[in-house]
Amino acid sequence: MAFTPPDEKTRRDAIGDLSELSAVLQRALTPDINSFDPIPKPGPSDWLAVHEERGQTFGEFKAAQTNRPTQTRRVIYLQPLGDFAPERSPSINKLQKFAAAFFAMEVKSLPPINIDASKFTKRRNPYTGNSQILTGDVLNFLKTRLPADAFCILAITMEDLYPEPAWNFVFGQASLRDRVGVYSFARYDPAFYCQSRGPGYETLLLRRSCKVLAHETGHMFGLAHCTFFNCLMNGSNHLAESDRRPLHLCPVCLRKLQSSIGFDVLERYTALQQISRTVGFIDEADWFSRRIKTARGQ
Ligand SMILES: [Zn+2]
Ligand SMILES: [Zn+2]
Repeated sequence: MAFTPPDEKTRRDAIGDLSELSAVLQRALTPDINSFDPIPKPGPSDWLAVHEERGQTFGEFKAAQTNRPTQTRRVIYLQPLGDFAPERSPSINKLQKFAAAFFAMEVKSLPPINIDASKFTKRRNPYTGNSQILTGDVLNFLKTRLPADAFCILAITMEDLYPEPAWNFVFGQASLRDRVGVYSFARYDPAFYCQSRGPGYETLLLRRSCKVLAHETGHMFGLAHCTFFNCLMNGSNHLAESDRRPLHLCPVCLRKLQSSIGFDVLERYTALQQISRTVGFIDEADWFSRRIKTARGQ
């Protein structure tokens, strides 16, 4: 089941025929080699060495008739769960702003709720002793709280999670059908592994958190793992691999998201460039600036 990176024609075919699109979209979706690296051959412990992925072309995505926003279901809700202590947590406000720019949709953050033992099963991890919450309880709770105008509702937490007693931990879990998900940022803090936080760790923690939020919310729109380019939607088997992923989408995945939401790519890139620069993702801000120029034909 060794993964062989696709050749250039396969990558172009995955993007699909662009001839009916506007000139701006055609330029934005052309796989310019200066902006988009082809996916490399995976290392032995990387996602694609361990997990078989079929890949999902734009044509397959369209045919799958995935969940998409409507006039009535058009808000992404964030539900903070438990404490987000400022010195060791990403800023909810910045996460919300990044997600709003990324999806070009309204993103609302709900008042935080306590991790009440009567609502959520908790345990101590049998190996490490840290506290964990059972994901299924959170998903069941969210299903009862889905606002009428919600496209989806995503619980975010600094608590560690587990999906069932036999498992060590899980980064997150979602039900696409029910439009609910829960994601933990606990393991993105170096202190979780008893490592020193080091200079710039706040930006690192925020970047990792924005990345997982955008990736997992991407799944909510029916985007499968990307097997064509280095892309935010690449699967990830370990932290070093997810740190290598960019915070932006390749042309295949951008086309899927654009067709689902219908945003203006230039407006979206401009918003992403601004928020990335504000929060200190300078390399990404520069990348968005270059893409804006390309999409404008400059
Ligand atoms: Zn994923
Ligand atoms: Zn992609």
